[in-house]
Amino acid sequence: MTQSAQPQHVVTRFAPSPTGRLHVGHAWSALLAMDLAHARGGSFRLRIEDIDGTRSRPEHVDGIVEDMRWLGVAWDGEIVFQSARLDSYRAALERLEAMGLLYPCFCTRADIAASAAAPHGPEGPVYPGTCRRLDEAARARRIAAGEPHAWRIDMARAVAQAGPLHWRALPFPPADDAASPVRAEPLAAGDVVLARKDAPASYHLSCTLDDAAMGVTHVLRGDDLRSATDIHRLVQALLGLPSPLYVHHPLLAGPDGRRLAKREGSIALADLRAEGVDPRRLADDLRHARFPIGISLASA
Ligand code: GLU
Repeated sequence: MTQSAQPQHVVTRFAPSPTGRLHVGHAWSALLAMDLAHARGGSFRLRIEDIDGTRSRPEHVDGIVEDMRWLGVAWDGEIVFQSARLDSYRAALERLEAMGLLYPCFCTRADIAASAAAPHGPEGPVYPGTCRRLDEAARARRIAAGEPHAWRIDMARAVAQAGPLHWRALPFPPADDAASPVRAEPLAAGDVVLARKDAPASYHLSCTLDDAAMGVTHVLRGDDLRSATDIHRLVQALLGLPSPLYVHHPLLAGPDGRRLAKREGSIALADLRAEGVDPRRLADDLRHARFPIGISLASA
């Protein structure tokens, strides 16, 4: 006889960055995550990823809250702001550093672009490892001189330490919890940044820590973040964090075939509202994958 496990309290989340107003693609993702939680009697949380000091704006936080309320997307509990969680990011970085897995990187974007050898990985150009090869004395001197630096993970070393890893994928749409294992290949992304020069943590670190701290059991997000999931799985393994189930949904494209997130002036919910669109009808249409005119599923 199999032992019946305690029923899991399902927690999903929507985690926008306050860099602009929400567009139809965000709305679709948020509705899917909310419905997934509610279909299982769980909770749906909202997290504002606001530690990108150069692009995040407080007025966009208000805009996001307004857009979500208008659409009828209601979250449970308090909103989690990443800007209030810096201590936990710092503590995780200290642990990873003590494990010998981080190194300071002084390179500028231009330095990296100029390195002709830099191959392209799923996360953009793969860092050529220049600062990994610095000796301890050079590192210490440059840090003492106040030279701005990020912290990168020594990916080869981290992967060797963690061993082979898989994450659990649910199909889209997520009909049941028949998850299939997907092998995580974080090595392909190279030595990604975990703390940025201009932000105390990168997306990879903050997102992974927050999902664990919020008890997220099902991460639903766009297909463009599949390779990020490989990295998040590694961070979970290194820090002993639970690994949620992942559902990656297709992305939406505009009339020109370009992904909504990448287009200037994507159809913002605020514009639809100004045009007099009925939010209940819009939400119902999105739930049934009926998108506003000109919007369609992006081809992979
Ligand atoms: N802030 C990220 C974004 O808007 C969140 C991605 C995620 O759901 O993990 O793309």
